[in-house]
Amino acid sequence: MSERSGIIDCHVHPTAAKGDGPAACAAEMLRFADRMGIEWQGLSLGPNFIAQPTEAQIEADNDFNAEMIALHPDRFFGYANLNPNLLFHSLREIDERIANGPFVGIKLWVALCCDHANVDAICERAAELRAPILQHTFFRTGGNLAGESSPDDIAALAARHPQVTFIAAHAGLNWERGIRAVADQPNVSVDTCGFDPEAGFTEMAVAWLGAERVVYGSDAAGRSFASQLAKVLGADITEAERELILSGNMRRVLGL
Ligand SMILES: [Zn+2]
Repeated sequence: MSERSGIIDCHVHPTAAKGDGPAACAAEMLRFADRMGIEWQGLSLGPNFIAQPTEAQIEADNDFNAEMIALHPDRFFGYANLNPNLLFHSLREIDERIANGPFVGIKLWVALCCDHANVDAICERAAELRAPILQHTFFRTGGNLAGESSPDDIAALAARHPQVTFIAAHAGLNWERGIRAVADQPNVSVDTCGFDPEAGFTEMAVAWLGAERVVYGSDAAGRSFASQLAKVLGADITEAERELILSGNMRRVLGL
C-alpha cells in the first residue's frame, strides 16, 4: 500500500456491477469512491453473498476480491471470507489468502456466532498474522438470526484474544447498546455503517471508546459512501479525532 494520505473505507462489498466481473465492479466502485475522496476500500463477501457458504462459494468470492486487488493494488485491500463452521477450510484459506497474500484481514458474517470455539482457532491464527477481524454484529430487534453475532459475543471473544484487533461492524445496529457492550474491551473498535445516518452516533462512540476505536466504513455498495461519511464529517468532534476515524486508525491497524 502507498504512503498517500486519504480516506480508508474499512468495509465495502463488491456488489456494484458484479455480474460484469471484477474489472467492471472495481471501475464502478472507484467511480463513486473518487467522487467522495476515498482512497482505500476494504473488500469482503462478494458476488455470492451467502449467509452459509460452501467451500466453493467462499473460494469464488475470495477469488473475485483478489482479482479486484490485483487490478488496483493501490485502491483495494481485502478480508478473507470464512465460514467458521468449515474450520479446516477456514484455516487453509487463512494460510493461502493472508499468510501468502493478498488479503490482510478476516471477515466473519452470520454463518456461526463468533463466541463459538471454532472462532477461537481462527483468532489464534489471526494473532500470528496480525490480521484484524471484521465481524458483523447486530442487536436485532426481536432477536438475532441463528448464527448471528451480537456486540456481547464479540466482547466475549475479544477478551479471550487480547492481541487481535476486532472491528464490530455496524456497532451493533442498535448502536447505543452496541457501543456500551464493547466499551470495556480495548481491542474492539466499531465501524460506522449499516444503520441510518442518525445524529449522535459518532459523538457517542468517541466519548465511550475514544476516537482510536472508531473507524469509517460504508457497507457500499449496499449503502452509499456519502451517507455513512456524513456521520463522521457532520459529527461534533475535533479535526484530529475525525482524521483518526477516516484514516489514521486503519493505517495503524493495517500497519501502513
Ligand atoms: Zn457489510
